[in-house]
Amino acid sequence: MRRPDQFQGLQGLILPGGESTTMGLIAQRWHLVTPLQDWVQAGKPVWGTCAGLILLSNQAIGQKQDGQPLLGGLDVLVNRNYFGSQRDSFETWLEVKGWEEPVHAIFIRAPAILQAEPHVECLATLTGADGAEVAVAVRQGSILATAFHPELAADLRWHALFADMVCTAAG
Ligand code: GLN
Repeated sequence: MRRPDQFQGLQGLILPGGESTTMGLIAQRWHLVTPLQDWVQAGKPVWGTCAGLILLSNQAIGQKQDGQPLLGGLDVLVNRNYFGSQRDSFETWLEVKGWEEPVHAIFIRAPAILQAEPHVECLATLTGADGAEVAVAVRQGSILATAFHPELAADLRWHALFADMVCTAAG
């Protein structure tokens, strides 16, 4: 997506991983910040993974010196590189609320959610190197956010969950 008019006809939006500062700056340059914020505020389904989760967060720490543009909408405080640098990337098995089998999750220079408003449903947590329990998958109404990369794993349950959210919203 490069132009605001390309939102027309969409029923769900995925904000992928990457580099959240760059993505925020490009969104500003391409005049996509307001349409993206309108999308989120209108309650249309959006799924942010990794950098996408950071962009959706209302507040972030660990940003570049001058901060970075965020879209907001997800009522959380995120630590942008909570799990360390690229070399600290890892894979693990996550217990997910309501799912019987754990899910394989790939974390690449991943963020973590440090604080969330009570209406944000925590779906999965991990314990960080500092011993704190942090959220790595959450849902807030039509917003799904994962700190890892489901698109790199074979398990399609996250995709199915988001497809379900899109179908429900579309009626
Ligand atoms: N921590 C990265 C950032 O700040 C995100 C990494 C990722 O998307 N894999 O944007």
